[in-house]
Amino acid sequence: MGFMSVLSFAHKLITERLAPGDRAIDATVGTGADTLFLARTIGPRGEVYGFDIQAAAITLAEERLDAAVTSGETLPPVTLLLESHAAMAQSVPLSWHGTVGAIMFNLGYLPSGDADKSIITRTDSSIAALEASLQLLRPGGVVTAVLYPGHEGGDQEAAAVEAWASKVSTQVAQSIIYRQLQRSAAPYVIALEKKRS
Ligand code: SAM
Repeated sequence: MGFMSVLSFAHKLITERLAPGDRAIDATVGTGADTLFLARTIGPRGEVYGFDIQAAAITLAEERLDAAVTSGETLPPVTLLLESHAAMAQSVPLSWHGTVGAIMFNLGYLPSGDADKSIITRTDSSIAALEASLQLLRPGGVVTAVLYPGHEGGDQEAAAVEAWASKVSTQVAQSIIYRQLQRSAAPYVIALEKKRS
């Protein structure tokens, strides 16, 4: 049968913690698959913010969300910003600080056929955004990061995220890793749950 995929594992951690009406953030919108997952999980009374630095990604995500609405789904408000996730703490409303149920990162490049694969997430902005996430999460909220050590630059970024997560104080959050040990280039997940008060 095999273990579940890294993306399914990230989704499971989030589904178990998000409730209808929650707030959620997609830190790397890409094609919008995770944005739609978050929107569906929190339902029409929730709210989602999404970040990406590529206009092509925002367009793909808008098309995906529009298609879901056209097919009869009722989604919550989704605000997609053409902006780095490093600015997320300043870009979401102040009222969101300390209230967000889940924040998803799926690092690397836009997974679409004609995308420019040289546009990838970068260690400095990814770590800055992960730091900001801890401030935005509510107690018991979760941040997930799917990491891709298999592409150039992705290995250093994954190692840096892993090192950062292992140094977060246990008074702030618990951090875990989900990784296949025999394939060093395979994607893996780091997740942090903010300490419950
Ligand atoms: N979650 C997406 C999906 O469901 O299709 C996949 C995300 S893709 C692996 C990574 C995305 O991160 C790319 O679309 C890329 O443009 C975006 N990205 C790169 N640097 C970024 C940054 N500093 N802030 C926000 N997004 C960034």
